Order: sequence, then structure tokens, then C-alpha cells
Amino acid sequence: MHELSLAQNIVEIVHQHVPTPDLPKVRAVDVLVGAASGVVADSLAFSYSAIVSGTPLASSSMKIEHIPYRVHCRSCGLTSDHDDGLRICPACGSMETTVVSGTELRVQAIELAEEDR
Ligand SMILES: [Zn+2]
Repeated sequence: MHELSLAQNIVEIVHQHVPTPDLPKVRAVDVLVGAASGVVADSLAFSYSAIVSGTPLASSSMKIEHIPYRVHCRSCGLTSDHDDGLRICPACGSMETTVVSGTELRVQAIELAEEDR
């Protein structure tokens, strides 16, 4: 269960950024998941829900934003998206490419409920 340990890490990141008294106010954790990160997004969100169940974070959920795998070709200058994680340029066939995005797994934001006024 690769995703379970990743979800555990994300819970720890939330704990590092949110003061303990504010943990019940966390509504959502926004996570960027790259297409070539090797992470199954549904499994990650499920693992998160399982971990926070019964904790001060129980009312929070994980919001996942999918990031396309994108490569930039240094031969012809084309930037293209690949679903399959190939690094070869679809226009000229060059392997001289740079990965622009798609390998990340990152906590983008932690959303807290508004204060009662
Ligand atoms: Zn190219």
C-alpha cells in the first residue's frame, strides 16, 4: 500500500502547518498528483479518509488535482502532454526532452473553515 504511507505523510504535513486547536477546522487538503507520479489518486484519497477517521481531521477530505505529464522538446521546441509517461517528442521523435510537469505529488493548499463571527 504505497498510497497509505503517502497519505500518512500528507497528514503529517497538515499537522506541521496547522496549529493543533485548528485541526477540526480543516475542510480540505488540496494535493497535486502528476500523471507520471505513480500514485493512484482514488486510493490516496481513500487512504487519507481512513487515516483521519476518528481524529480531529475527520471532517476534512482530500481534493486531488491531476497534473498532466508534459515534456518540452529541446530539438524542435514543442511542449506536449503524454498520458503514458513517454519522453519521446511526438513531433520529431527526439529523446532530447525535458519533463515540465507530471511527476509531482505535492500538498498545494490546506483549506480551513471560516471563523464564526
Ligand atoms: Zn521535437
